[in-house]
Amino acid sequence: MEHYLHRSLHFRGYDYLVHMNLVEEYLKYFIFKYDTFFKDKNKKMMHHIDGNRKNNRKDNILYVKDRSIHNKLHQEAYFYIVKIGKIKKYIEWFFSKERRTNLNLEGGD
Ligand SMILES: [Zn+2]
Repeated sequence: MEHYLHRSLHFRGYDYLVHMNLVEEYLKYFIFKYDTFFKDKNKKMMHHIDGNRKNNRKDNILYVKDRSIHNKLHQEAYFYIVKIGKIKKYIEWFFSKERRTNLNLEGGD
């Protein structure tokens, strides 16, 4: 697998959780695991729950402590998918999506 595709495979896990309506469960798991502060408006990093940076509705925004925990939130989605036993489905989805969208590599935030 080419490097950029591999990278994208790790970063698109979050989009899949949105697609499968599993993102709320994932966020609960993540917040519990890292005991991290969300919904604190003094914190600067914004996370868009549905992956769409243009959707700034209140219920679509989580405020996270810093960039590193924000990156982790996106990257760890892949491992969460492994944990819940859906990784093969995700990989199928990923490659069918890649074909459809002709390698749009810029993931949402
Ligand atoms: Zn984010």
